[in-house]
Amino acid sequence: MPKTTNVSYRNKNNQVVIRNTGKPGNDHNQKIYELQCQNEQTAAAGICGNLYGANGSDIWQRKCPRCQGGAKGLSY
Ligand SMILES: [Zn+2]
Repeated sequence: MPKTTNVSYRNKNNQVVIRNTGKPGNDHNQKIYELQCQNEQTAAAGICGNLYGANGSDIWQRKCPRCQGGAKGLSY
């Protein structure tokens, strides 16, 4: 099982871990990770590419705030 906080981990919503920002998250003992949305809504449009911050504990189920109606990204 790949760890969900590893760089390049991809969750079921095509959200990919870019890096650990090292900044504290807003959940208990969490760090903010930078994620990139690689969801492809249509082949013509390509991937979304949105970059945003998320708590490490949320990565496995995170949805893109721009194209999947996910929660607003954390500032980092
Ligand atoms: Zn997106």
